[in-house]
Amino acid sequence: MTTVEELYDRYPDVLYPGDLRDVPPGWMDIVDKYFEVVSPLMTDTGYEVVTASECAGGLDWTWTSPLSAMTEERHQVMDREDILLTLRSYHTCRECGRPGSGWASGRRIVTTCEEHGVGERILDRKPLMRRTAHGVVRYDAVADQLVAVDPTGV
Ligand SMILES: [Zn+2]
Repeated sequence: MTTVEELYDRYPDVLYPGDLRDVPPGWMDIVDKYFEVVSPLMTDTGYEVVTASECAGGLDWTWTSPLSAMTEERHQVMDREDILLTLRSYHTCRECGRPGSGWASGRRIVTTCEEHGVGERILDRKPLMRRTAHGVVRYDAVADQLVAVDPTGV
C-alpha cells in the first residue's frame, strides 16, 4: 500500500504537505493512480488541492488552478480523472485498499472490504453515475474504466 509520505515525495509539484491529511490510508493507492496522470499534465499550472476528505463513503476531491492554464486537453483529462478518483473511492476499502463496498453504522456510511466492515453492509447501493460535459458515465470496477450510459435510461 502506498503511504502518504510516498505521495508527497512522488508528486511535489502538485501536492503540498498536509493536502492529504484527511484522506483514509486505504485510498492512497487510488490517489497515486490519479496523480500518475494528473501530475505530468498539471505541473507548472498552479494546480492546488482544495478539498480532500471522506464524505459518505466517497472521496470528496476538489482542486483549483488559474483558468489561463486550462487548455481543452487539460479540461478533458481532468474531468475524467476527477470522476474516476471519486468513483474508485466508492469501490475501495478506506482501511486497506482492497475492493470495498458501502457499510452503514448508525448514520455513518463508509466504504470497506468485508474484513473492515462495521455495521450493516449496504446491499442495494445503486450504480454510481456522473454527468459530464460529454454525457453520463458509470464506473466499471472490473475494467477500472468509465463507461458511457444511455442518458434516457437514467
Ligand atoms: Zn479492508
